[in-house]
This record gives sequence, C-alpha cells and structure tokens, in this order.
Amino acid sequence: MLVDTGTPRNARKLLDAMNSLGLEPRDLKLIVLTHGHFDHSGSALELKRATGASIAIHRRDRFLVAHGINWIPPAQTLRGQLLRVAFLALSWRVKLEPFEPDLALQEGDSLERFGVDAIVLETPGHSKGSISVHVPSLRAVFVGDLLINRDLLSEPVFAEDREALRASIGRIRKLAPWDIYPAHGDRVEYKQLNKILPGRYQLWWWLP
Ligand SMILES: [Zn+2]
Ligand SMILES: [Zn+2]
Repeated sequence: MLVDTGTPRNARKLLDAMNSLGLEPRDLKLIVLTHGHFDHSGSALELKRATGASIAIHRRDRFLVAHGINWIPPAQTLRGQLLRVAFLALSWRVKLEPFEPDLALQEGDSLERFGVDAIVLETPGHSKGSISVHVPSLRAVFVGDLLINRDLLSEPVFAEDREALRASIGRIRKLAPWDIYPAHGDRVEYKQLNKILPGRYQLWWWLP
C-alpha cells in the first residue's frame, strides 16, 4: 500500500524508492489517497499505469480527481487567503488528468484484502473527504493534511470546515497512536499533539 503520491510526474521517483526497498512495481496493490488535492493525487494515475495498483479515495473527494479539479480550501489567515487566490488564479497551468478511482472508501473500511492490516478513519475538515489510515498493529496513523509538520506542527491553514478539522484531530488524539505521519513533514509523536497552538500556522507547508 502507498498512502498519497505527491504532485504530478512523481511516479519515477516513487518506483525508484520502491526499488531501493527491494520492491517490484507489481508489489504495489493499493494507492490510498488521503484526499483529492493535486499534491496528493497528482501521480496516482501514472503510478497505477506502471504498477496495476488500485486507487482508493473517500467518496466525498472523488469528484476532485474524477474531474481533474485543482482546488484549495478557504484559508484561515490573510496571508493564506492571498496565497490561495494566487494559487487558484494560476491553477489552470497545472494540468491534471482526470481519473475514476477504483474504490470509494468510507469509515471503518478494512484494507486487509490488499495485504495490509489497516482501517480507514473519516477525518474531514481539511477537505470533506479527508481520511486517515490507521495501522493498529503498528499503532501508526497516516493523517494526510490533517496536521502539517514543517518547521512548526500546526493545523493546516487551508480547511473546508475548521470545526470538523479540530474534531478529527480529537479523534486521532483518542487513538493514542505511537506514530502519526502527516503528508507534509516528519513523523509526529503522540505527545507533540499538545504543542499545537490554535491560530498558529505553518504556511509554507508545500515546500520541500
Ligand atoms: Zn490538501
Ligand atoms: Zn497536501
């Protein structure tokens, strides 16, 4: 299983990373997208073509990939709002090839038939169809953009529903996992969740 694929034209990089782990392209069975934004779904189709893996996404974010929509949610700060307007104005330049996902995920779905001990958690807020992938045997959870951990661990500045986002973070807190993997930035330990300061955001979260 691979969780998220990055921006478009990353398939080669991902295949090289698999190779360095001793994995063949056909070993990839499932590509789970935590949500439908282009920096997560951008290379899914290319990677599916190279590996034959199925693509899964929550039904509420399906329309983004099915129509190749380059979307960014409303921002919490003025700087974020300006960035968002600039991004949306330029977004036509990033061409996204639309694709129909193979699977529509929802709360409680088990991914066991793909060979992984993982459960889907609905964790909306950043987008309506944002999910987290919980691996109970490792006490690990992949949270997508529910948390951003670049220089500062924070909520994402962009969110469709701030209240839902905070409730989703609360859900992760209740799981008490050992390892939390945000899509942008390094692994987060459970105790770090207490360090999130409401109203402080890591704005440059998409930069490497
Ligand atoms: Zn996102
Ligand atoms: Zn993202």
